Amino acid sequence: MSFKDLKLSRPILRAVAEAGYDNPTLVQEKTIPHILDKKDVIVSAQTGTGKTAAFALPILQLLLNKQDAPKKGKTIKALVVSPTRELSIQIEENFKKYCKYTNLRTGIVYGGVSFEPQKDMLRKGIDILIATPGRLLDLHKQDAVYLDFVETFVLDEADLMLDMGFIDDISKIEHLCPEGKQQLLFSATMPYKVVELAKTVLKEPVKIEVAPTSSTVKTVEQLLFYVPKPKKIELCLHILRNTVKGNVIIFRRTKYGVDKLEKALSRNGYKVDSIHGDKTQNLRQEALQKFKNGDVNILIATDVAARGIDIKNVDAVINFDLPNISETYVHRIGRTGRAGKKGVAYSFCSADEKDYVLSIQKLINKHLDIVEEHPYPLDPKAKPEVHKKKGSKYKKGRKSEASKKKKKRWY
Ligand code: AMP
Repeated sequence: MSFKDLKLSRPILRAVAEAGYDNPTLVQEKTIPHILDKKDVIVSAQTGTGKTAAFALPILQLLLNKQDAPKKGKTIKALVVSPTRELSIQIEENFKKYCKYTNLRTGIVYGGVSFEPQKDMLRKGIDILIATPGRLLDLHKQDAVYLDFVETFVLDEADLMLDMGFIDDISKIEHLCPEGKQQLLFSATMPYKVVELAKTVLKEPVKIEVAPTSSTVKTVEQLLFYVPKPKKIELCLHILRNTVKGNVIIFRRTKYGVDKLEKALSRNGYKVDSIHGDKTQNLRQEALQKFKNGDVNILIATDVAARGIDIKNVDAVINFDLPNISETYVHRIGRTGRAGKKGVAYSFCSADEKDYVLSIQKLINKHLDIVEEHPYPLDPKAKPEVHKKKGSKYKKGRKSEASKKKKKRWY
């Protein structure tokens, strides 16, 4: 199938050709005709499948179809809600690329930066808005954004959105848009709660599934190292010194772990940067840019910060901590081995993470290749470390309301 067969008009086809896309990807082939037909869709597809264009191209087409309607000044006709700032930026970059030869205008709003430029942009008028939920609602409270003319509402990365606790925000936003709108839900995985959300939000949606999440990329070699927890940094340095070449993403579960590892690698002379939820938007963008430009070749990340980010040419992924959710493993290693290139995933497992290996293997329906020959083997009889509870000298529940509110995110 070619893009022409998808009934996209010339300005879009020109931009798509310029982007270097020869043919639609599977998710585009399956999804675009239904969106053009004004159907609701629920699509299970991961980043890397071309899912952004799968909703961006038909949305642009639908808007172009209506261009001869009187131009009253621009109103938001398509709204895309996405869980993180990085993802929103990426989505807007995609839209901008594809609407280059049209007079459609896009805008983006996300938290962590000042309101004024965003309000300014909204005042000037746009056709397509990409937003993170919190900032969108804040702007609505301040009467700076009107969603009364939204015709298409996209929820991207719905599973992550629910994991991050955005369910109420999504429902509020959905109600701020008109009732008869078309709704598109994209999610990397389809856990029960996403299916339930779809039931409440979508109208007889067309279901589209591209590559179930349990199928790990075939071109990725998956190696497993059993290692005592305190030796993980040494093992990581050993692998970086002797085995891994090129661009590496290292995943850790917590931002504290990310910072600690970044310091250790920097001390050892590696060019490294990191992203996690406590870093400012600018610092996170800067780190990503440095990694993309090749100024640093190691990026350390938490899952939430890295989720969905389109980084090409990753040669290896190191799972410094194993994820407690098996699907996350699939997302992580999907960063490498893209577009038919070979990639390697190194997973470090300490005594307390053995159960995670079992559930990962069950999900992907295959055994990871255990590497026995390395300098820091784990004694097979080693028991999970038990952290002795020191016991607080304060009574439970002593925390003030203010301090509870200040509770930082762990990702
Ligand atoms: P996504 O899954 O939307 O994050 O897209 C992953 C990458 O695939 C992005 O870098 C897109 O620019 C690229 N892409 C999207 N559609 C196509 C296509 N039809 N052919 C080649 N590359 C594509």
